[in-house]
Amino acid sequence: MALSVLAIGAHPDDIEFGCGGTLLKLRNLGAKIFLFVATSGEYGGDPEVRVKEAEKSAEILKAEIIFGRFKDTFLSYSRELITKIEEVINRVQPSIIFVNFYEDTHQDHYALSKSTITATRYSRNVLFYEVPSTSASFKPDIFTDITDVLEEKMKLLLAHASQVDKVNISDLDIIQVAKSTANFRGIQARCRYAEGFQPYRFQFLEILQILNGTNDKIKNKKTNNSD
Ligand SMILES: [Zn+2]
Repeated sequence: MALSVLAIGAHPDDIEFGCGGTLLKLRNLGAKIFLFVATSGEYGGDPEVRVKEAEKSAEILKAEIIFGRFKDTFLSYSRELITKIEEVINRVQPSIIFVNFYEDTHQDHYALSKSTITATRYSRNVLFYEVPSTSASFKPDIFTDITDVLEEKMKLLLAHASQVDKVNISDLDIIQVAKSTANFRGIQARCRYAEGFQPYRFQFLEILQILNGTNDKIKNKKTNNSD
C-alpha cells in the first residue's frame, strides 16, 4: 500500500506555502497526495481563477485536489466543517495529515485548524504547518530538508499567479517570503532550506515502516460526529 498523505488548507496556496516541498518529496517517494482546500479563496480574488490556479498547482504535485466550497473568511469551528473533513479522511485514509496551525491571525486558519483537530481524533499522524500569518508562537520540532525541491516548490506558489504580490508587506512577494522562511527553518534544521512542522501527534517509526514497505496496516478508523 502506498503512503496516503492528506494536506488540508483554508485557501488555495496555504498548503503549497506550508508543506509544498514536503509533499513534493513524499510524492517522489511514491506517496499518493490528496489536497483538501476548504474555500475557493474568493475574498482574495476571482474564485474561478483561484480554483484553476490550485488545480494547476495540484497537477505539478500530481495530487488529487478536493474543494470544500466553504465561504472564504467565514470558516468556523463547526459541525459542518468537521463532518466534511471527516468525510475526506474516511475516503482517502491518510497516514499523515498536514494542516494550518491554529495560532494564526486569520480566522479561517484558526477555525480550520481547530476543526481538523476534532476531525482527526483517530488519526495517528497530524502535523501543523506555517504560513505568513501564523503566530510567532509556532515552534517546529519536525523538519524536512527541501533544498533539492526548493525551485519546484516555488513553481507551486507561482501557479497561484494572482496571489504572488498579495503579501501585505511592502516590497516583498510570496516567493521572497517562502524562500526566507525556508532558509530560517533550514538553519534551525541544520540544512540550507527546510519546512518546519509542529506535531499534534506523530508516530515516526510507523511512517518509516510505511515508506520502507514493511507496514501496510495503517488506517484511520471510520469516524462520525457521534464518537
Ligand atoms: Zn490562507
